[in-house]
Amino acid sequence: MIGLSAVGKPLFARYDLDAVADRFTPDAVAGREAGLWRYEEVLPVRNRSAQVKLGEGWTPLIDAPRCASRLGVSRVWIKDEGQNPTGSFKDRGLCLAVSRALELGAKELALPSAGNAGSAAAAYGAAAGLRVHVVVPSDTPRPILEEMAAFGADVELLNGLISDCGKVVRKGVEQYGWFDLSTLKEPYRVEGKKTTGYELHEQLGGRLPDSIVYPTGGGTGLIGMWKAFDEMERLGWIGSERPKMFTVQASGCAPMVRAWAAGEEESAEMWQGATTYASGLRVPGTVGDFLILRALRESGGGAVAVADHVMAEWVRHIGTDTGIFAAPEGGATAAAVPMLMEMGLISTDDEVVLFNTGSGLKYVGMEPID
Ligand SMILES: *Cc1c(COP(=O)(O)O)cnc(C)c1O
Repeated sequence: MIGLSAVGKPLFARYDLDAVADRFTPDAVAGREAGLWRYEEVLPVRNRSAQVKLGEGWTPLIDAPRCASRLGVSRVWIKDEGQNPTGSFKDRGLCLAVSRALELGAKELALPSAGNAGSAAAAYGAAAGLRVHVVVPSDTPRPILEEMAAFGADVELLNGLISDCGKVVRKGVEQYGWFDLSTLKEPYRVEGKKTTGYELHEQLGGRLPDSIVYPTGGGTGLIGMWKAFDEMERLGWIGSERPKMFTVQASGCAPMVRAWAAGEEESAEMWQGATTYASGLRVPGTVGDFLILRALRESGGGAVAVADHVMAEWVRHIGTDTGIFAAPEGGATAAAVPMLMEMGLISTDDEVVLFNTGSGLKYVGMEPID
């Protein structure tokens, strides 16, 4: 299949890091324009005129002392990805994928989405002047549907899950030659998402935290950061030490948590009957399963599942403790910390980064399912 390797696995963009290591340094980057394009030497767009920009990336890393004391750890930062242009960190990935598609001369783009990726693709497609076809489950939150419509995207509603939507997209890709933007089925979205790894290093003054807690759906965020750390080591920015990487999923859809608990290394079985109001986590299976498991294993991390009503409770705690209106997925990361401490995976003196991957505003009207 186009966009995957011969054996059907994700492709990665690789760079001649030795060639740029001299000029691509933390000092050189420090004075650049705020936004993810500040890392352009390690991004897959060669032509600056193809860099589509809506103000993505360089989101604040917010010190959250009251959250830290509530959780009983020494320090908590929240990386607030809700402040991206369409209110979720999907903007990073789709910014890169659409820019690269533009550079490659694509005319029509397509993807299945649980919601936020569709908004982001529609926005960047509009900015680039490219047609975007999005196939989403019919119970996708209303604000997201209206947003995609406002960007002029061609939106198809389907009574099913994101995996069913993917089949419709594949048909269009085969029939009409649409550029497939499906998660990890092209190598560019992960490149956009990896910039969070570079940003953490820069925003923490040239170091990384002890632990990173990440709400994992398709896995590009986690896989991207893991790739960024590898590149940063090759560039001489960091040593071989890594933060512990933690995956959080919803109790109603936790294929990676189940695979991790079973000691799987190569793959995660598809989750049947996925339910959660955290639409970004309603992903029953991913082609990046083995890469997620590898990052968890190599980092000394782990994976836990959180029920919807517990996410909602932690959305309120984050709100009152910090002034951030978190997405349920962001709430899930805080909810995971006490569980991970109980398992002995996070200790009281850890410095922890929680990823609030989206704005709570995109979920207004959605209720916890379990
Ligand atoms: C897509 C999404 C996720 C999951 O991200 P992956 O990188 O696909 O694992 C988490 N939270 C939100 C808000 C999302 O939109």
